[in-house]
Amino acid sequence: MWRRIIAGLCAIACVFAVAACGSAGDAGKIRIGIKFDQPGLGFKKSGTYVGFDVDVAKYIAKKLGYSEDQIVWKEAPSKQREAMLQNGDVDMILATYSITDERKNAVSFAGPYFVAGQDLMVRKDDTSIKGPNDLNGKRLCSVTGSTSAATVKEKFASEVQLMEQPGYAECATALFSGIVDAVTTDDIILAGLAAASRGRLRVVGKPFTQERYGVGIKKGDTKLATKINKAIADMIRDGSWERAVQDNTQGAHYTPNPKFNPPDPTEGEK
Ligand code: GLU
Repeated sequence: MWRRIIAGLCAIACVFAVAACGSAGDAGKIRIGIKFDQPGLGFKKSGTYVGFDVDVAKYIAKKLGYSEDQIVWKEAPSKQREAMLQNGDVDMILATYSITDERKNAVSFAGPYFVAGQDLMVRKDDTSIKGPNDLNGKRLCSVTGSTSAATVKEKFASEVQLMEQPGYAECATALFSGIVDAVTTDDIILAGLAAASRGRLRVVGKPFTQERYGVGIKKGDTKLATKINKAIADMIRDGSWERAVQDNTQGAHYTPNPKFNPPDPTEGEK
């Protein structure tokens, strides 16, 4: 009997020791959720992280007092973003994360720091899809938990067949192999994937939504949101934002919509 109790207590102590180790390792660090598979935005490249979201995240982290080696990068797939913030797995998320009222029930946002638009990507020589009005009978791929998939279900449910994948890279593969006719998500994401496709895929270029990218944070942390918004405003003012856009869209034939970019990051505070 006693032996069992002692063994049980030991097991509990062990779990705490491991947990303590985990948090000690992260002490003085900031954990940031990004995409790992979106070229030009959040991309893991032989152990380093590159892209526009990564550059904005580094700039914000610096303004919050963290150097680059104090950043712990975590993969934040579209479907898991709210849960990751709610569970405290990450301190903030910069992962092409659109600000929406529905998501605001679960998390809070700073920003926007960028405005994209939902678009379509097709195989290079497919001329049958010129915009969202040509989707009748087509097979589309998008990502579970994204606004892109939600918009398709809302606006085109009766005319298209939607295949959902965990990430857009998987959708691009499905498009190459002819399993679907088009991939749909934000134009800037598609531009990066098309650029990485060696000419095999192209973006249609008829955006039909506004996707305001926010910095996801724990619900209600208005103090942090204000600090982040100041950092974004600085980044725009000192030219770093423009440089980050240029650096990360080079060769992708992408220009941000000048009507909405650069956005006013304090828009939500007003
Ligand atoms: N910006 C859209 C969203 O937040 C699509 C891109 C993504 O899945 O990250 O859902």
